[in-house]
Amino acid sequence: MVKLESKLPEVGTTIFTVMTRMANEYGAINLSQGFPGYEIDHELKELVDKHIQLGRNQYSPLAGVPELLEAIAHKKKLLYGCDLDPQTEITITHGATEGIFSGLTALIRPGDEVVYFEPAYDAYLPAIQLNGGVGVPIRLKSPNYSIDWEQVRKAISPRTRLIMINSPHNPTGMVWSKGDMLALQEVVEGTDILILSDEVYQHVLFDATAHQSVLAFPELCRRSLVTMSFGKTFHATGWRVGYAIAPPALTRELRKVHQFNTFSINRPFQHALAEYLLKPERYLSLPGFFQEKRDFFRAAIADSPFELLDCRGTYFQSVSYKDYSERSDMDMAEWLTKEVGVAAIPVSAFYSDGTDEQVLRFCFAKEASMLEEAGKRLSKL
Ligand code: GLN
Repeated sequence: MVKLESKLPEVGTTIFTVMTRMANEYGAINLSQGFPGYEIDHELKELVDKHIQLGRNQYSPLAGVPELLEAIAHKKKLLYGCDLDPQTEITITHGATEGIFSGLTALIRPGDEVVYFEPAYDAYLPAIQLNGGVGVPIRLKSPNYSIDWEQVRKAISPRTRLIMINSPHNPTGMVWSKGDMLALQEVVEGTDILILSDEVYQHVLFDATAHQSVLAFPELCRRSLVTMSFGKTFHATGWRVGYAIAPPALTRELRKVHQFNTFSINRPFQHALAEYLLKPERYLSLPGFFQEKRDFFRAAIADSPFELLDCRGTYFQSVSYKDYSERSDMDMAEWLTKEVGVAAIPVSAFYSDGTDEQVLRFCFAKEASMLEEAGKRLSKL
């Protein structure tokens, strides 16, 4: 046997894969891993076909096809009023996950501290650690998962290189307010601290809540790398197409890594997305579309013994079951999948120390019939 010391000794298979596998094995309704349970728009499919037939099947330029970069710049102007140079500030990535990974690789050095908020998407900490960084978690305060800014200020040290933020927030559905953005601005003012802002759920917000993108805050924008996702926006998580926005100096460094990581992203899909983006109503209608699903799912499980936590954004509904059972959240998720036929994600997977607040996360980006059946099963508990 060759001797091999794991670079990620604490890490197993991601919880999303574990729960989806278990759901499939037991034939459970899979509300665990976050992916839409319905078809993408047929016009988008036809556009992909069209560009394949047109022969757009060889390497894309490494930053992305110019039509798509321009369409994204146009969209950001419309949404956040910012002027982006498509040639020097936007890069198409292999999903937002690659943007996060390549971004961290480009921007942090061994020993650098990276402040982030827990519960946190499970890719963040391994990406920090594989790049030699030290994760400094800030605990969001339950039950509303609000930010304790005093704690953030205390966590900043001369070694802080970067702060990672995520709004709308996976898994909690919490959304950063304008006040939070201004508080962040105050924390980084006069420092060289960078920001990585994961905004993949930018269009999934409810109750007329506005998305506070770092792109709308010039002071934050000039030190930020923002990651976004077409998978989330156009219901096509399997395409693995996302993008990163950053000022030219940061983008230059990002592209140095990106070019040797993936070189470039698949071309016909980029052309299709560029054309599809020409009609803004295709993404402007998303909050209404998802709010209907959120409200439907909340009503469907209202008679279950679970306590519905606030959900202001993302397509995830978290519930607390602490008054119902003493099981750990992993046990509970496993039992629900095997015995009740509904799979969810145990939120302890989003804490580096495995904190278990007896909270489960359900994905409601599914057909109404599926949500209804899940509601029936959970209401029998
Ligand atoms: N982002 C999705 C979620 O939170 C899944 C991502 C994945 O499976 N890698 O469930």
